[in-house]
Amino acid sequence: MSVQQTVDRNSQTGTFMEYADIPGTELKVSRVTLGTWAIGGWMWGGSDEAESIATVKAALRHGINVVDTAPVYGFGRSEEIVGKALAGGLRKDALIATKVGLEWHDGKITRNGSRERIMREVEDSLKRLKTDRIDIYQVHWPDPSRPIAETARAMRDLYEQGTIRAIGVSNFSVKQMDEFRSVSPLHVLQPPYNLFERGIDKEILPYCKKHSIATLGYGALCRGLLSGRMRAETKFSGDDLRRHDPKFQTDRFPQYLAAVEQLDRFARERYGTHVIELAVRWVLDQGITTALWGARRPDELTPVEAAMGWSLDSAAKTEIDRIIAETVVNPVGPEFMAPPEYA
Ligand code: NAP
Repeated sequence: MSVQQTVDRNSQTGTFMEYADIPGTELKVSRVTLGTWAIGGWMWGGSDEAESIATVKAALRHGINVVDTAPVYGFGRSEEIVGKALAGGLRKDALIATKVGLEWHDGKITRNGSRERIMREVEDSLKRLKTDRIDIYQVHWPDPSRPIAETARAMRDLYEQGTIRAIGVSNFSVKQMDEFRSVSPLHVLQPPYNLFERGIDKEILPYCKKHSIATLGYGALCRGLLSGRMRAETKFSGDDLRRHDPKFQTDRFPQYLAAVEQLDRFARERYGTHVIELAVRWVLDQGITTALWGARRPDELTPVEAAMGWSLDSAAKTEIDRIIAETVVNPVGPEFMAPPEYA
């Protein structure tokens, strides 16, 4: 399956956005999705509610029609803020993607894909989001302590009841998706994917293309590294996860910064754009249906439009690969982000 897309101009704001279908559903999604983990504050050094609400509204003005959240982001806070932002008439303009299957006790996260947990969590999410339907519902992480069939059956039941409009999973392997699909339809996978973290290239992305599973790629900006705004002296405060992410530690950070600097130069010279748009364009051109863009301030979405309506040619992709291979000599994957399998 290749991404079938259209390009539309927003009649109110004049901005351009590409849209793509989620096969097997009625949903048509913008090719950039707003990511709201940071809006929940937790693991991102806090957030400001008014700025966060303004960010969700700004996303809609940019033609973004999907907002991705999760109960665990700020332990309900991100969902509540998304609910507040969309209340009062904007709900009809946005598709809400949220998640299920992680629980928390005293700030400690564990996986729980049980039917009981899913049925309880969906009710909590609907309340926080101030809605009666979730457009895209994703199992946040696989729970190896119980059969995937149990999780899949619960998701299928919610879909058949009409409580959710598309069934998704996140961070699943091919084998886990196979098991899931033997019990339930599967419309969406949300995997990590960016210029530096390409673990899905070998098996997962080809599998999704083959089985018409839409992909919501997270971390497209590599947690801000690919924004082009980071410097060697950039510091992260409070519980910001980048204080522990191996890419941001002294041994590797300079390698990634050197790559970003060279990618930015290449983007300017070859396309008259910047590394942030190049990074998102690359993800989309690899066949990802929609790239998640984590933002918590309206101005962070200003470059979105410049990532739309063009494509990288194969010579550009080769040059990008050369730059990264020469600068990032000992790359790391996204593994450190996974919650423990057994608590
Ligand atoms: P990301 O999108 O790769 O990066 C977000 C970062 O980019 C933020 O740090 C933000 O800066 C920075 N940024 C955004 N626009 C910018 C701009 N114009 N200029 C400079 N910096 C800019 O990171 P992510 O939040 O990890 O991923 C995005 C979304 O994916 C999340 O919000 C969440 O919805 C989803 N996600 C899902 C999973 C999963 O397991 N399914 C895991 C991770 C993320 P500041 O820090 O300064 O605000």
